[in-house]
Amino acid sequence: MPEPVQSPSYRSPWMEDEVADVAALARTFFEREVTPHAERFAAQHQVDAETWRAAGAAGLLCVSVPEEYGGGGGSFAHEAAVLWEQGRSGDDALGYAVHSSIVAHYLLAYGSEEQKQRWLPRMAAGELIGAIAMTEPSTGSDLQRIRTTARREGDHYVINGSKTFITNASHAGLVVIVARTGGEGARGISLILAEVEGADGYQRGRVLEKIGQHGQDTRELSFTDLRVPVENLLGEQEGQGFYQLMRQLPQERLAIAISAVGSADLAVELAVAYAKEREAFGAPIATFQHTRFTLAEVSTDVLAGRTFLDYCIGLHLDGRLDAATASRVKYWSTDLQCEVADRCLQIFGGYGYMMEYPIARLYAGARVQKIYGGTNEIMKELISRSL
Ligand SMILES: Cc1cc2nc3c(=O)[nH]c(=O)nc-3n(C[C@H](O)[C@H](O)[C@H](O)COP(=O)(O)OP(=O)(O)OC[C@H]3O[C@@H](n4cnc5c(N)ncnc54)[C@H](O)[C@@H]3O)c2cc1C
Repeated sequence: MPEPVQSPSYRSPWMEDEVADVAALARTFFEREVTPHAERFAAQHQVDAETWRAAGAAGLLCVSVPEEYGGGGGSFAHEAAVLWEQGRSGDDALGYAVHSSIVAHYLLAYGSEEQKQRWLPRMAAGELIGAIAMTEPSTGSDLQRIRTTARREGDHYVINGSKTFITNASHAGLVVIVARTGGEGARGISLILAEVEGADGYQRGRVLEKIGQHGQDTRELSFTDLRVPVENLLGEQEGQGFYQLMRQLPQERLAIAISAVGSADLAVELAVAYAKEREAFGAPIATFQHTRFTLAEVSTDVLAGRTFLDYCIGLHLDGRLDAATASRVKYWSTDLQCEVADRCLQIFGGYGYMMEYPIARLYAGARVQKIYGGTNEIMKELISRSL
């Protein structure tokens, strides 16, 4: 038998020196400020307000927003580095992607100069947290059927309706509300930025009990004659909301895919360590062929996932990530995450089913990744339309 050759550790092509520095910073942040508090965050169904401010102080929020708006001045590679490290840390409590990769980018892409100056620096500091409210109790995938209305009354919109499953809903001070300013269908939809702290007519509903991601503040929201100044419309005219959403969704889906493969990578690492240490029938379970083959397969799956991800990140950095490719990487990576988490959990036997073991949290937290950001069935619909 030839001597085994150690596999070289994989390095993403976009992980250039400065991006690697951001990744190292993010790793330290999650190790110190998030992972030690995971159980407490899960029990209280939210991170601390201080966690957001610490992320801001470390320079980890809005890393791809220009410096003139208080951001890090980086590219999506910097954003990807933080998302990857969050996935690798096993954290699913901090709604980083919604705040930094999604809401900040709506503002950046469509906001007026005044809106950007007003909100982005506070978002980068972790003082103002962002949420996006699209989904309603009666419609999720079929976004064109939303019923929340924004009626123009003088120099205000008067907003009425209800939303559900909203990430960051406890902490959010700035909510992108998807509302109907015009008639039926896509052309009647606008995005309106509401500063909600202490606003009359803005109600946070109950914190939803989920099967995983317990540290995430997912809630219902309702609006009863919520008055928002007309200058808070995103974009120059009404009726642009649906198209604004469609243009931003590839980045949102790519962000989900990054966290998915990062989390799967961690699951494999945990399973390898456990398999070497746990004994059964007088030997470490890593000596059984079935265990070794499982680990061989899942580690290969993750490596394949990383290369696919890197291809898509490269496309996005070049401004060439289309909706179908983003849908492909979202559905495929989140399916991979669920499959890998399940197979790795099995290696832990009964301990894998205990919440005190991180693998159990990875398994439970993974499931929703196939649902939000557009369900994986909708992803396949979008891909098939492009063929
Ligand atoms: C933890 C969590 C966090 C979330 N965060 C947010 C958030 O921050 N903001 C926000 O706005 N939303 C959020 N969502 C909502 C999420 O985006 C929706 O749940 C999702 O889009 C699906 O909508 P739905 O739940 O109404 O399911 P439905 O649209 O009712 O779909 C039900 C089922 O039917 C399938 N289906 C529907 N249409 C088709 C079709 N045309 N072809 C094939 N199958 C179809 C779906 O794939 C799914 O399996 C979150 C959800 C969860 C669970």
